[in-house]
Amino acid sequence: MRRETYNEFRQLCREHNLAATHQRQKIYEALVSRPGHYSPEEIYEQVKQDLPSISLATVYKNLKTFVRAGMLHEVSPHHGSWRIDANRRPHHHLVCTRCRSITDLPVDSLAPVKLRGVIPSGFRVEKFSIELQGICKACAATRSGSPGNREGVPPLR
Ligand SMILES: [Zn+2]
Ligand SMILES: [Zn+2]
Repeated sequence: MRRETYNEFRQLCREHNLAATHQRQKIYEALVSRPGHYSPEEIYEQVKQDLPSISLATVYKNLKTFVRAGMLHEVSPHHGSWRIDANRRPHHHLVCTRCRSITDLPVDSLAPVKLRGVIPSGFRVEKFSIELQGICKACAATRSGSPGNREGVPPLR
């Protein structure tokens, strides 16, 4: 693990009142080593290379702990599978409705969001995150994705 990742991990555990165990350290490392939005299974596959005896249940439990402590965030639940966001900075998401890929969009790529109208009373807004849905470049390049060519659309399963 890179020195600064290790220090960041220790610091985050201290801030969020979590024991900085070796397992958690490996899970955190797997998450932040590459930017992305990972399922517990993907993290498990990565962590297993260092800790062959770790179970998927353990990885799952520790990811839940990270999220509950506020140390990491989950991606909005519309994606069908539970995913953890490795990016701790505030940001928005571009979501491809075809392949379900998720791309981060820096928070300053949108004009500041202003609330208009009334929010249900008692609701305290803590953050905004916007999800832009569409078709990613790779999907748009495939035959079925190109506009005007409807024959190639695969049947729904
Ligand atoms: Zn796509
Ligand atoms: Zn993200």
